[in-house]
Amino acid sequence: MIIFTKTQELIQFREKQKNISIGFVPTMGALHQGHLELVKRSKQENDFTYVSIFVNPLQFNDKKDLENYPRTIEQDIKALQSIQADALFLPDFNQIYNNQIVPDEIDLTYLNLILEGPKRPGHFEGVVKVVSILFKIIQPDKAYFGLKDFQQVKVIQQLVREKNYNITIVPCHTVREENGLAMSSRNTRLSEEGKKKASLIYKWLLQSKQMYQKGIAIPEIINEVKHQIHQNKDFILDYFEIRDADTLYDNMAGIKKPVALIAVYLEGVRLIDNLELSDN
Ligand code: AMP
Repeated sequence: MIIFTKTQELIQFREKQKNISIGFVPTMGALHQGHLELVKRSKQENDFTYVSIFVNPLQFNDKKDLENYPRTIEQDIKALQSIQADALFLPDFNQIYNNQIVPDEIDLTYLNLILEGPKRPGHFEGVVKVVSILFKIIQPDKAYFGLKDFQQVKVIQQLVREKNYNITIVPCHTVREENGLAMSSRNTRLSEEGKKKASLIYKWLLQSKQMYQKGIAIPEIINEVKHQIHQNKDFILDYFEIRDADTLYDNMAGIKKPVALIAVYLEGVRLIDNLELSDN
């Protein structure tokens, strides 16, 4: 695996890659099986796969979260080598934000008003900045993103659509622990007890799916699941909502493909997850 720490070196290398398909998996490191599945998929679908590891300060609205974000770079390199990723881009702050590559901006209005938007001011702007810079450097044909960050996929799709990037966004299903907990770098900040308790998040999502499939009305599902979360003193609920998976609108009558989205705090760690309710 080639490791690039300098943007210019990657660009020069990339210029020589002609007539091959390029896959790209952007990450913030502390890699787990969820990340590795994206890399494996990219390897299956492309001739050459780049992975980036960059903890992007611009997308952290909470300074403490940035400070506490796990960093396990040696382990990450070994994991990527073991699945034969072709190249790793490991830039520092100045390699990304040096004014040589101008980030794109989009008007996020709606996506900033719902779910994660108001809870994490500036987060999606930071995501758009770093992803647009990384796309310009790596110039992939396909880029792989996890549906665990459901709203982020929508943001990236809007970016690609509005800026006419010639890149296919490939949303990938959420990889879970055996107990249902969605894998996340932030899970390493939970105690063993916390990891067990956190399996309730998936149970609440599954419960909403069962209720939906029994024909129970969406407002009733929301009330019941919220009630259960509030009864559990280990969790602080940030939001639990059911929206349309395509548009993320929440007008009940218009929801064709419902997705339940949840954010909670457990042991001071913010965890998010989601589940489409009409899937088999
Ligand atoms: P992060 O390092 O958290 O920025 O995540 C990098 C990419 O991995 C993003 O596209 C995430 O959505 C994706 N990802 C994170 N956790 C999972 C998971 N459990 N299953 C699938 N993809 C994931």
